[in-house]
Amino acid sequence: MDSPKPPRPIDSVYLDPLDVLWLGVTRQLGITVNRSHEVFAHWDGKDTLFITEPEHMDPDDCLGQMLFHEICHALVGGKAMYQKVDWGLENVDLRDLVYEQATNRLQAALTDCHGLRRFFGTTTEVRDYYDALPLDPLLQGDDPAISLARAAYDRAREGPWANAIESGLRRTRALADAITDLSPPNSLWRKLDTVHATGFIQTNDDSLHCRDCAWFYQTASGRGRCRRTVQSEHRKAQKTTSRALGCVYWETKLSDDSCGSCGACCRAAFDMVQVRAKDIVVKKHPELVHDRSGFRHIPRPNGRCLALSGDGTEGTPANGTGDSAGPYRCRIYADRPRSCGDFAVAGEACLQARRRVRVSP
Ligand code: SF4
Ligand code: SF4
Repeated sequence: MDSPKPPRPIDSVYLDPLDVLWLGVTRQLGITVNRSHEVFAHWDGKDTLFITEPEHMDPDDCLGQMLFHEICHALVGGKAMYQKVDWGLENVDLRDLVYEQATNRLQAALTDCHGLRRFFGTTTEVRDYYDALPLDPLLQGDDPAISLARAAYDRAREGPWANAIESGLRRTRALADAITDLSPPNSLWRKLDTVHATGFIQTNDDSLHCRDCAWFYQTASGRGRCRRTVQSEHRKAQKTTSRALGCVYWETKLSDDSCGSCGACCRAAFDMVQVRAKDIVVKKHPELVHDRSGFRHIPRPNGRCLALSGDGTEGTPANGTGDSAGPYRCRIYADRPRSCGDFAVAGEACLQARRRVRVSP
């Protein structure tokens, strides 16, 4: 009689690809992940995250999303909170709710770049807040979570974790693209948004084209480009075409009339107005020009240029100083320094200013 066959040797295990992906990202960030029946999510203030076991999760939860959410918490807390248990937050009452909300805003902003906001939605009772976030979750507003989220966004894009996070989101999108059409209708893998050629989310409004957008321009050779994709001097404007459907950031073309309600460049976005010795303003408005060891400039206390009038409201332009009501206007426009004269409406610096002040999404 033949002796029973020994069990086949098994030298590998199947793992959920999204789990593998985000466990890999957290490893790159120096974070160890352990599963636990004791907690839902817990950071030990040193190097280990504890995440609940799958049976305690909602049907649309996944480890990848929960890890990404905790990474966002770390970014919102910054260095100061990294070494505190649970990022220094208490969830027994609402005292730290603003940090949770900032984390939701950051999560939405980062996933938007990959069409994954709905796919990587947050869990628990704060989900309503996440679902109600506007198109641009970092847009200026009254919510105190916005400034926390904006600072965290800069850390996420430019800090030491930037590459790992971006790579994790890019790979998540690639995974999703590979299976979305084969997934059942109620699957999370179906919750993707179309990403425009520029990397933004494509608009659902088929009347909005890049050619009619404030940020579209053509190069000398006639090629279409999107100025909104320039986020630093190292990143060139991405290609698009005049016929392309726009993205969710489509904006009406700007003209000189746009400045009255905006004023971004003069009231907040930059912190100095440089003045050359030969600028006419030196002679005509000496009271405005300050000289700091040979460095001439018009001061901008709290970001606002001394030569700016108005408060962005409608009405007759004011000639008064300071915070007089009416559209924003430069009181010395005809005599403004060269550095201001070079500033073009709808140019790169204009867009940068509008985005910094969140006039543009
Ligand atoms: S911002 Fe404007 S030009 Fe750029 S992709 Fe969107 S619609 Fe097109
Ligand atoms: S940022 Fe642009 S639109 Fe706004 S005031 Fe300055 S030039 Fe005008």
